[in-house]
Amino acid sequence: MTDNTARKGPRPELIAQKPERKREPRQLAVINQNSCTGCEACVIFCPVDCIETVPGADWAQFQTVVEVDIERCIGCALCAKHCPWDTIPMFGYAEGIQKAPEITRRSICNQKTIEDVTPAES
Ligand code: SF4
Ligand code: SF4
Repeated sequence: MTDNTARKGPRPELIAQKPERKREPRQLAVINQNSCTGCEACVIFCPVDCIETVPGADWAQFQTVVEVDIERCIGCALCAKHCPWDTIPMFGYAEGIQKAPEITRRSICNQKTIEDVTPAES
């Protein structure tokens, strides 16, 4: 199993209750939140319900975005195929874990975001 270095802390209880996948996938979907419009089209297509809505109350224009729970994605790529804005890149699993924080601005799954991987200015 590849160590999930993109995890920051435990998921909130409601998300943690959702079923785990059985084995590590070959691919991983990661939402590029820099261009996600929050349309939620991808959510409907995910067969394992691992795309979570990230509320936008503290964000410019109150925009909602979505986030893939890395430990539940099975890498089927259905979300990437159906995103109207082409903003879900698919990565090899290990690469996806590494890249995810760089294109994640907010997390409801307690996964790392760009703030967690950007060195503080001195
Ligand atoms: S379909 Fe694309 S733009 Fe719409 S919520 Fe999903 S990732 Fe964002
Ligand atoms: S690749 Fe498949 S399992 Fe993973 S988030 Fe997209 S639709 Fe869901």
